[in-house]
Amino acid sequence: MLNLDFHPTGRHFLQIPGPSPVPDRILRAMSLPTIDHRGPEFGALGLKLLAGIKDIFKTRHPVMIYPASGTGAWEAALVNTLSAGDHVLMYESGHFASLWAKMAARLGLSTEFLAYSGADADLPHAPSWRRGVQADLIEERLRKDSEHRIKAVCVVHNETSTGVTSNILAVRQAIDAAKHPALLLVDSISGLASADYRHDEWGVDVTVSGSQKGLMLPPGISFNAISPRAIEASKTAKLPRAFWDWAEIIELNQGGYWPYTPSTNLLYGLSEALEMLQAEGLDQVFARHQRWGAGVRAAVNAWGLPIQCADPALYSPVLTGVITPPGVDADALRRLIHQRFDMSLGTGLGKLKGRMFRIGHLGDSNDLTLLATVAGVEMGLKLAGVKLAGSGIQAAMDHYASHLAPADLKKAAV
Ligand SMILES: *Cc1c(COP(=O)(O)O)cnc(C)c1O
Repeated sequence: MLNLDFHPTGRHFLQIPGPSPVPDRILRAMSLPTIDHRGPEFGALGLKLLAGIKDIFKTRHPVMIYPASGTGAWEAALVNTLSAGDHVLMYESGHFASLWAKMAARLGLSTEFLAYSGADADLPHAPSWRRGVQADLIEERLRKDSEHRIKAVCVVHNETSTGVTSNILAVRQAIDAAKHPALLLVDSISGLASADYRHDEWGVDVTVSGSQKGLMLPPGISFNAISPRAIEASKTAKLPRAFWDWAEIIELNQGGYWPYTPSTNLLYGLSEALEMLQAEGLDQVFARHQRWGAGVRAAVNAWGLPIQCADPALYSPVLTGVITPPGVDADALRRLIHQRFDMSLGTGLGKLKGRMFRIGHLGDSNDLTLLATVAGVEMGLKLAGVKLAGSGIQAAMDHYASHLAPADLKKAAV
């Protein structure tokens, strides 16, 4: 892959669901000189970021910003709130939920993994992981836990391995209906800033997120948004922690600083991303991703291929998972498309390896880049000998042409 002598013309199409294509504006902001992370300019930048990021999570409470990938922030969420042997209830929505559960077990937590057990009568050959978190299963389980052994419920908001979102408010309501004190920990690593998310309103205790997906930044920073209950829990939680410890970070954050060297240039990028998101308005940002996703799904439907997400109410605005017909290796298809058209698509992860591929519709995109993406996939499918029911590219063109973009609707309203 790292053949530095090979420079294809034009832009590489990075259509994986994270890292997402980074806008030039953000790349330019990141190229400014690195400054003293203990100096006055940095303190001002830190304060601005720590305030601005709260709007993205929709919280009034502290948000930790770590120089780490999302996996680090997963660990931070667990070690700050729990003690060795604590029982945690997790939900198997897909590969990322499975990795988080594996991490929890390695940290010495006792994990229980709920999963959807129904089959897909309409699509017997389909792989699993096609539905969102079923809050009723969580409620049922919590009601049985009369001794309150379960200390936390962990769910993924936007399962990036499948393109299925989950209703986080319903999970909160399930916990409340069972009158259970468990903390609610949510991974919105790929949902934040692209899909509607409300940390305070949905009663989430810790939201984990990352930089390289909806926030349009390169990989390298991640977040914990934390509730007062989570902070309270951290005072008695005993899992070993040092680098991830919230208390020291919260203290230094008062002045806009961190206990260690933060990733200065990535933070310049975050500052630019926050300005872009604020200028556009989060509701417009969410509507833009919904519309992009609908256009891509119109293409997949026209090809006659099944979408990984079996519940239209839960289609991800960030990515679409496409199931390949039996006998068609999705990874061979991805390799072919990469070689021929210089486009990267997301691989099938875990149980879904070879069975499906993922099209990212996030980051620095527009109608025409997504149409080119659909064209690349359609050409690849034909070259791979897949029989298509119709033209996906035509369906996507029709969709984008006949649906005004959120920005146009705004202009029309003025
Ligand atoms: C990307 C992702 C992760 C892992 O984050 P890294 O930055 O790769 O460590 C975890 N959960 C979800 C839902 C993700 O999309």
